[in-house]
Amino acid sequence: MNQNPLNIAVEYLKGVGPRRAEVLNQAGVATLGDLLEYRPRRYLDRSTVRRIRDILPDEEVTVVGTVISKRVVRGGKRRLLVRIEDGSGVLEGVWFQQADAFARMFKENQLVAFSGKVVRYHTWQIAHPSFDILSEESDPLNTGQIIPVYPSGQELKKVGLSNFSLRRIIHTALQRYGRSVPETLPPYLVRNYRLLSRQEAYSQMHFPESMDQLSQVGRRFKFEELFYLQLLMALRKHFYVSPISGFTISSEDTTYRRLLDALPFRLTKAQLRVLEEIRRDLAGGHPMNRLVQGDVGSGKTVVALLAMFLAISGGYQAALMAPTEILAQQHFFNLSTLLAEEKLRLALLIGSMPEREKQHLQQQIAAGEIDLVVGTHALIQEAVDFDKLGIAVIDEQHRFGVMQRASLIRKGRHPHVLVLTATPIPRTLALTIYGDLDVSVIDELPPGRQQIQTYWRTDNSLNRVYPFIREQLAAGQQAYVVYPLVEASEKLDLKAATETYHYLQKQVFPNYRLALLHGRLKMAEKEAIMADFKRGSIHMLIATTVIEVGVDVPTATVMMIEHAERFGLSQLHQLRGRVGRGRAQSYCILITPPEINDVAKARMMVMTKTNDGFVIAEEDLRLRGSGEFFGTRQHGMPDLKYADLVTDQKIVQTARKDAFAIIAKDPHLRLPQHDVVRTHFKEAFAGKFDMMNIA
Ligand code: ADP
Ligand code: MG
Repeated sequence: MNQNPLNIAVEYLKGVGPRRAEVLNQAGVATLGDLLEYRPRRYLDRSTVRRIRDILPDEEVTVVGTVISKRVVRGGKRRLLVRIEDGSGVLEGVWFQQADAFARMFKENQLVAFSGKVVRYHTWQIAHPSFDILSEESDPLNTGQIIPVYPSGQELKKVGLSNFSLRRIIHTALQRYGRSVPETLPPYLVRNYRLLSRQEAYSQMHFPESMDQLSQVGRRFKFEELFYLQLLMALRKHFYVSPISGFTISSEDTTYRRLLDALPFRLTKAQLRVLEEIRRDLAGGHPMNRLVQGDVGSGKTVVALLAMFLAISGGYQAALMAPTEILAQQHFFNLSTLLAEEKLRLALLIGSMPEREKQHLQQQIAAGEIDLVVGTHALIQEAVDFDKLGIAVIDEQHRFGVMQRASLIRKGRHPHVLVLTATPIPRTLALTIYGDLDVSVIDELPPGRQQIQTYWRTDNSLNRVYPFIREQLAAGQQAYVVYPLVEASEKLDLKAATETYHYLQKQVFPNYRLALLHGRLKMAEKEAIMADFKRGSIHMLIATTVIEVGVDVPTATVMMIEHAERFGLSQLHQLRGRVGRGRAQSYCILITPPEINDVAKARMMVMTKTNDGFVIAEEDLRLRGSGEFFGTRQHGMPDLKYADLVTDQKIVQTARKDAFAIIAKDPHLRLPQHDVVRTHFKEAFAGKFDMMNIA
């Protein structure tokens, strides 16, 4: 049945024996498709390669030439000399270290490229050039203007899979199978956008005619990648949201008013607007699938609370999932107080609870005896079953993956879903990352909030920082000191935090009560510490990043972050968001060693300059690049090999428009012009995205 030549195992290709096949497999190349996707690491453009004759002293150059001799000189300083010539002159590469090891890599008549700074001795020389071996013998394929250079794994080399052999295998395979490489984009799109066909794109990728053709290769594959990404979004949205009927929860205005009146504060305009959007979703007959974006401290929790309450008063259960136990406990505590009048049956379900207690809770949840359950990942475990889950809320969405979101949702029958995130991302990106969600934005902070003053200090000025913190404590405020905790050095970090804690308690703040909070503590201990801190009987919390998200103690006004250079921007912003929650002026003090690298410096500067989460997210994106920023996989999306969500936004938009148009017209991809799409989609994504059914 399988007609797609891309699935042919590499061992059946001409020029690949069992031994080579094994090595290729180890390098992740199992099929012809993988081989064609084995992208050159870079390209050498002969027109920019320097003729040896034209070299000037002290220039950085790349030259391409044939090896005419190699020898290891033993007298004096041991060194390897490799001479190449390019028809216009001779140049010598010199290795002073590992001369023998490098000597083994070169052979006479190889075509090689040397790059580096040239100096003039008896001949032109480059010391320790970076080099590529372009072919082992004269390479008839190597006539083009542009020479692809493949990733040269040591293993591949060992079995003789040089750049040259790879090229020959790929060349032969393309001649044999090239014409039957299936197109994956609908023909009309290829035509409209003048894209290279897939076959042509592979051919140009490995044997480019010009730099321009090469950029067309990039354009073609970027479009393809983004098109399928958006198709996935369109399908999710279509099958997962639109046609399914959900619970209709229409709330009486009187109930809603009563709730609003019972709150200890008045909601901001932005909060009210988002709540209206949510109410409309709940009453709309389809499952809500909404993301609420709002900067740290903008008051997302209370919005979620009201949404849950509306569902409960409509006779349903509600679930709220948070990424850490501390946060779950805090939500539980806050909801209990806010809802004290409403006689609700609330429960907290977290992993560290005794097994018996958990089981008992699970029974109650399944029997519908609990209205609202707050929890951690424990909520999505197998044993948890809801009687009538009407709404699932996921706090701090960026901490969870799409799969976890899906697991929670599956606990009910198409419940309404609300996800909250404090990671503000530019709109076009939101469309991609959360393409299957509707987005609401809380773009206003509750009144009376102060700008947090942020300072960057080095650790040798701590003796001026501590008195400042002491003044704050004396005025009845509280403080956090945060320590980074990276897994690799967890023990050491914890030790540092513990030592600081003892030092600060004994030497610096003997008249105040300090506590140490970290992830290794038992749940009851954490709970007790947080409760005391909230009550004000603990004045200062030395904590690892367990407090990063969500923790809310309005009387805390100082956030001091040790080793701030080790944190990312969004994490710093989250941490800073722990203060400035009350009426008093708050401070964030970033402590770093005197010498930190430029990127870390840039992060400190951004933090001291702005409090605006959107600005910070954009800077973060700029400093890190989009791949790392999101971890696409975490969002349940295929990895992007060609496209960049930031720099290729135009293509994102075009691809999105086309993908959504197709699904709107032909959601099951049954029309003949969508054949290629259906086939490719099934092949590339089968099994990974089970929520839609493409026949
Ligand atoms: P986040 O959006 O970061 O999750 P929270 O929901 O934790 O923010 O809210 C931050 C703090 O602001 C909480 O103490 C909350 O009670 C308070 N808050 C929320 N909305 C308002 C409001 N409209 N007016 C005053 N305080 C509010
Ligand atoms: Mg929150």
